[in-house]
Amino acid sequence: MNADAPQVAITSRIFPESIAKLKAAGFRIAYNDSNLPLEPDKLVCFAHNAKALLVSASTPVNAALIEQLPNLQVIANIGVGYNNIDVAAAAKRGIQVSNTPDVLTETTADLAWALLFTAARRISESERWLREGHWQGLTLDGWLGLDIHSSTLGILGMGRIGSAVARRAQGFGMRVLYHNRTPLAPDQANGATWVDKNTLLSEADHLILVVPYSAQTHHLIGAAELAQMKPSAVLVNIARGGVVDDVALAHALAKGQIAAAGIDVFENEPAIAPELLAAPNAVLTPHIGSATKATRLGMVNVAVANLLDWHAGQRMRNLIHIS
Ligand code: NAP
Repeated sequence: MNADAPQVAITSRIFPESIAKLKAAGFRIAYNDSNLPLEPDKLVCFAHNAKALLVSASTPVNAALIEQLPNLQVIANIGVGYNNIDVAAAAKRGIQVSNTPDVLTETTADLAWALLFTAARRISESERWLREGHWQGLTLDGWLGLDIHSSTLGILGMGRIGSAVARRAQGFGMRVLYHNRTPLAPDQANGATWVDKNTLLSEADHLILVVPYSAQTHHLIGAAELAQMKPSAVLVNIARGGVVDDVALAHALAKGQIAAAGIDVFENEPAIAPELLAAPNAVLTPHIGSATKATRLGMVNVAVANLLDWHAGQRMRNLIHIS
């Protein structure tokens, strides 16, 4: 191997075929073959010689880390959301950053629906009860849930994934409302209608969140917003931890301010607010929005393709533009 070959530091386990692609393209590899994130001081040592970082949402790449990696030129994020990376600090050093849009859109939209159905139809809760041996026969008034079909779906964040969620709603005969800062052209909205945020909160029977995390979307859904929702509403968060105030959500669930929630991402994940863990009407999944074999492999391959673009001196296909 050429000693001048750039080193890529891969900070958590990926797929062997993706590593083979990087090797074949002439990268030297530093590999943390583990799903446990490296502690910050270990990460600095591990990536010290790296010109490239290949990271996922579980690895924060903050300004302090960037400052301590003198050779770093490029960061390829495995994920469309890149709030784990301080892109402003990277830009200051001229470090390029890429992400993996599109490849995970449909799989993540599927999970939004899985969470909505599971929460609305009380699937986790009733299955736990059945397994505990409580079931004594069919009851007409037991385990009553909420209808999805013919109801009003609210989507907060009608981008790639939000639009994929909206397309699926047509099959269930739903009225779809959405809110973005910038309304879409009607022919781009998949039959959904733009409304302001307050209308979305008060009119949605079910609300799915798909906005990126940023200072602007921090606690976009907190106590005040939850109080505006219907007591029969289901909230689904497949966006990012921090978009919802998780403790306020647990209180709203306990008070019956909303009916149920399906949550894939958490404020301090992998730690979860104990109040939320204790809520029987919350369906909780461990950040599995894009977790199918085909999609996760596709995401890693897109991140690798971005690194290959960079290595070939070309513009990365998913370069993040810092405004
Ligand atoms: P996208 O195409 O950029 O869509 C994001 C949408 O959010 C845009 O329509 C944007 O419209 C809207 N938005 C942004 N800020 C807003 C605000 N303050 N208020 C209202 N709307 C706002 O992104 P995407 O590919 O759909 O992905 C969305 C997010 O999903 C990612 O950033 C990621 O964090 C999350 N995600 C999670 C998983 C998971 O595993 N759970 C998997 C994939 C993605 P405007 O700019 O007009 O407001």
